[in-house]
Amino acid sequence: MTNGHVNWLIMPLGYQPITKRCPSCETKKLFLPSGTFRVNAQKKTLDVWNIYKCEKCDYTWNIDIHERINTNKLDPDVHQRYLHNDLDEVRRHAYDYSLLKRNNAELGPTPPYDILGPSPYALSGVEQLSITIDFEQVIPVRLINILTRKLCLSRSQVARLLDEGVLVGLTPADLNRKIKHSLTLHLNLARLYQLDLPFVNTPADVEVS
Ligand SMILES: [Zn+2]
Repeated sequence: MTNGHVNWLIMPLGYQPITKRCPSCETKKLFLPSGTFRVNAQKKTLDVWNIYKCEKCDYTWNIDIHERINTNKLDPDVHQRYLHNDLDEVRRHAYDYSLLKRNNAELGPTPPYDILGPSPYALSGVEQLSITIDFEQVIPVRLINILTRKLCLSRSQVARLLDEGVLVGLTPADLNRKIKHSLTLHLNLARLYQLDLPFVNTPADVEVS
C-alpha cells in the first residue's frame, strides 16, 4: 500500500463584498474595500476604520476596526500598516467575518476562489492519499464544492465515494458543512480507480454556496 499526502490551499480572489443600500445610487449595491484605512488619533486613543466603496459610485462606508483603542494596546507594526494602507492588512480585515458581523454588515456573495495544489490524478502509484485543506483566508465554502472541483466529479458521484469507502471518515452531512478551519481527508485512490467513474468538468460558476 503506497501512501501519499498533498496540501490544497483555498485562495479567495479579491475581497468579501458587503451588500448595502447605497444612498447615492438609491438601490442595494455591493461595497468593497477601497484599499485605505481611516485613522483618527485623539491624544492616546485611536479610531480605525476600513473604508468600503460602492461598486458603482464613490459613496463610502466605514467598517469599525477599533473604537477608542488606547495606542498602548495596539501593536506598533499593525498601527504602521493602518497608516500606510497596507493591502495585506485590508485583505485580512475584509475576511474577518466576526468583524463584519459586529458591524452588522450584510454579506454579499462569497468570492470566487482558487484551490492550489496537485490533483490526486497527477500522482502515480499512490493508493492511499491524505489531503490537507488549508485556507489563505477562511471563507465559508462547503467541502462538497471543493471536492467536485478538484476531483472533477459531480455532486452525486462525490456522495457515492462515501458509500463506496473511497472517502473515509466523513458523513454526508460533513460534505455539506461549511468548513471553518483546516482539515485532513483520506481518499482511497486505488478504490476510486476501481469504480470507473465518468469524470465531469464542474465549472466554478455552477457551485451552490
Ligand atoms: Zn453607489
